[in-house]
Order: sequence, then C-alpha cells, then structure tokens
Amino acid sequence: MTWLGLLAEAPPSLDAVGYALHDRGFAGHMARTPQVTRYYLQWQRGTAADAWSEQRIWDELDIRMGAADHGPLHRGPFRERGLFDLTCDVIEPLRHGSLFLAGDAASLLAPAAAKGANLAVLAAEILATALLGALTRGDTTGLDGYSDRCLEHIWKAQEFTGWMTRLLHSAPETGGDAGSFFQAGLRRSRIASLRTSRIHQDWFAANYVGV
Ligand SMILES: Cc1cc2nc3c(=O)[nH]c(=O)nc-3n(C[C@H](O)[C@H](O)[C@H](O)COP(=O)(O)OP(=O)(O)OC[C@H]3O[C@@H](n4cnc5c(N)ncnc54)[C@H](O)[C@@H]3O)c2cc1C
Repeated sequence: MTWLGLLAEAPPSLDAVGYALHDRGFAGHMARTPQVTRYYLQWQRGTAADAWSEQRIWDELDIRMGAADHGPLHRGPFRERGLFDLTCDVIEPLRHGSLFLAGDAASLLAPAAAKGANLAVLAAEILATALLGALTRGDTTGLDGYSDRCLEHIWKAQEFTGWMTRLLHSAPETGGDAGSFFQAGLRRSRIASLRTSRIHQDWFAANYVGV
C-alpha cells in the first residue's frame, strides 16, 4: 500500500482529523497550521508522485472526501509531495549490549494510526528513566526490562495500526474480484460495528488516543 503525502498552502477544511473511506481509495486530512494542511491519497504503487496535476489531485480529494455533500475543500498550491510505503517492522530484542534501540530504529509503523512518533517519545521516556536509575543509583532493573517493556507497547500499536490500515483502504491494488469482494465486505462490517457498538467505539478511542 502506498500513500501520496501532500502539504498544501491552504487553510484546513475541517476542524478535526478527517479519514475518508471511499471505493476509489483512502483520503486523509490533517490540519497543521491555520495556513497549512496535510492531505493523503491512497496511491497506485509505481505511479510517480508528480504524475498528477494539482487540479487532478484536488478533484480526486473532493470526490473521496465527499465535497459534494460536506462542502468544498480549501484549495492552495502544494508545497511538498512525497510517496510513503505503508511498511511495518519490529526488531527484537531492543537491547544489544550497551546499544538500546528506540523510535523508528526499533519499530516501523504504517502511518495509518499515527502511532510512530508517540511510541518514539514513550521509548525515550522509558529509556531516560532507566538510564537515570542505572547511572545515579546503580539500579539496572530499568535497563534490563527496557526491551520487554517497550515491545509490549510496540506490538499493541502494531496490532491497532494493522486494523486501521485494513479499515481505511479499499483494495484496488490487490487484484482478483473474489478477494476484493471479500475485503470490501469485511470493511463494511468493521465500519458498521464502529458506528453502532459502544464497546467497539471505546476500544477504538482507547487505542487511537493511547500508546
Ligand atoms: C507520512 C507519515 C506520517 C506520519 N504521521 C505521524 C503522526 O501523525 N503521528 C505519529 O505519532 N507518527 C507519525 N509518523 C511516524 C513518525 O514520523 C516517526 O515514527 C517518528 O518520526 C520516529 O522518530 P525517530 O526519532 O525514531 O526517527 P526520525 O524522526 O526519523 O529521526 C531520526 C533523525 O536521525 C537523523 N539521522 C539519520 N541518520 C543519521 C546519522 N547517521 N547521523 C546523524 N543523524 C542521523 C535523521 O536525519 C532524523 O532527523 C508518520 C510517518 C510518516 C512517514
């Protein structure tokens, strides 16, 4: 799965983060400043980032984000364009002698659930506390448990990120009508459950906001 990431010199079009689930593919909206907004488009792997004109990208964002129903997007020139492959990886363990891995060096997450930087900050905090314990009190329990403690959070975030990735994306790239039909059915069921089940909504909120 690939995203085209765009930084637009345009005010945000929504008050909140916007995830648009469309048969043509995912689109995302993230406010950055009153003058700058980040957008994402699910993108055909192998297509260059500059293959589409700005007009075509805005028109596609309008379609996927339902501008006809929810109002037009605020348009402006794109300051940046980049392609992001939605890859995931984990290194185990996170400690190799006196080397401690943290952040993306320890675990890569697809950006679908916006967890990577949050996990990196958490690992830095755990490591800083462990280093203080070892260096000021000679207590190495924090360093000894560093890898296991971080991996617990990392795998939880990976599981939620995988769930979000499957929720957000239509599957035009995977090919095969039977596979696409089945995936589309699962996706509809996930969305329906998220709309109607309080338990599911609480689970989603705890995972989306927490680390
Ligand atoms: C499109 C996209 C959107 C994302 N959105 C979110 C989000 O909304 N929320 C979220 O929590 N996460 C998000 N992430 C993930 C987040 O950006 C990363 O997980 C986070 O930046 C990892 O922090 P890090 O410090 O480990 O690595 P980095 O931020 O990559 O920092 C590593 C630094 O090391 C420097 N460096 C590399 N090699 C060397 C060297 N040899 N010598 C010196 N310096 C070096 C690099 O230049 C860089 O500055 C997103 C990622 C992507 C790709």
